[in-house]
Amino acid sequence: MAASNKKETVKQAVAGRTTGQFRCLYCFKRLSPPRGATEFTCPNCNYAWRVWWFNPGEPRIRGPVWENYEKLTKEKMQQGGV
Ligand SMILES: [Zn+2]
Repeated sequence: MAASNKKETVKQAVAGRTTGQFRCLYCFKRLSPPRGATEFTCPNCNYAWRVWWFNPGEPRIRGPVWENYEKLTKEKMQQGGV
């Protein structure tokens, strides 16, 4: 068998898409919270956000921290746990 070239693997790994970031809904700066974080405070405007992970590489803002404590607990109870 002849040697094969594996250039396609590299292409697939580098997608032109930013992952692991979301935009602060208050100042619209790009934030990159640590993986798996459930809360993140924007270093620019100091607004604290609740984070949920759409998938392991894509965080999303779920809402402001202050307002969401109660809501989140209720939602969890409705779902009957994780
Ligand atoms: Zn901000």
